[in-house]
Amino acid sequence: MLADSARLHIAIQKSGRLSELSRALLRDAGLRIQNGKNELAARVENYPADLMFVRDDDIPTFVADGVCELGVVGGNVLREFELGEADPRCEIVAELGFGRCTLKLAAPENTPWEGVASLEGARIATSYPRILQRFLEEGQIKATVVKMNGAVELAPRLQIAPFICDLVSTGATLEANGLRPVETVFESEAVLVRSRKPVSQAREEQVAGLLSRIDGVLATKEAKYIMLNAPEEALSAISALLPGAEAPTILPLHQRPGHFAVHAVCQESVFWETLQKLKATGASAILVLPIEKMML
Ligand code: ATP
Ligand code: ZN
Repeated sequence: MLADSARLHIAIQKSGRLSELSRALLRDAGLRIQNGKNELAARVENYPADLMFVRDDDIPTFVADGVCELGVVGGNVLREFELGEADPRCEIVAELGFGRCTLKLAAPENTPWEGVASLEGARIATSYPRILQRFLEEGQIKATVVKMNGAVELAPRLQIAPFICDLVSTGATLEANGLRPVETVFESEAVLVRSRKPVSQAREEQVAGLLSRIDGVLATKEAKYIMLNAPEEALSAISALLPGAEAPTILPLHQRPGHFAVHAVCQESVFWETLQKLKATGASAILVLPIEKMML
């Protein structure tokens, strides 16, 4: 067995909105995670890596310091951390497509709103003071940022601040508290980050191997394999219609001169409309297949 120092360390959220999806991503990349939900760390059985289960707020620090080479964290948490740093010590290596949310300014429904100028001189409660401060500076607005660690939606009711700046996904929480969103400050999704701290060649290879698998997982999510038959004169129209496909494979059909099979990996979603357009060019026997694994 490898010594601890020879294993990669990957930080993911222990419990919360990102924890299950972070585990699922690593599982899809082929990592067999030893279970034990309440533990602080878990060993990956079939890759030289250990998972660290931590509070999401600690993930940027761990990755920046190189304690963990990789981490999965909300873009919002990362951005808030980085705005407090002189130089970026983390690098975003993939946007993961889950944990989407928006940092929004909101106010009680009857608050007059004429754009960000309405914030001038106001107090705004938020858990993301640096992101908000930067937003205000960019809009040349002078306002007082009040930091709260949770329950930000209560600030107007408690007369802590008439405005809030908080994460929203469906908007249901705002609505339940009589608030309405007035402005978007930051769009977020979960990201994969790696440490910028230099590592040994062997360690670099472990990281690169895992990143290439994760790229494969992300690419496969939308990707489809398309097969169809078509007469020669339709081939260029068909190539133009295949979404996100480079250089399709074209094979002659046995005993059907002038007819070909077209095979292609489409990197984008394939919709019924696309199939109808393909058919209209003269294509037939169109098959769309899921792709289980892909290495780019
Ligand atoms: P921890 O115990 O790890 O500190 P937390 O309470 O700070 O957890 P969660 O509420 O689990 O964090 O949210 C984790 C991340 O999920 C957020 O930072 C954000 O990137 C994302 N997220 C997605 N939708 C929402 C939402 N509606 N509200 C808050 N966060 C959301
Ligand atoms: Zn947190």
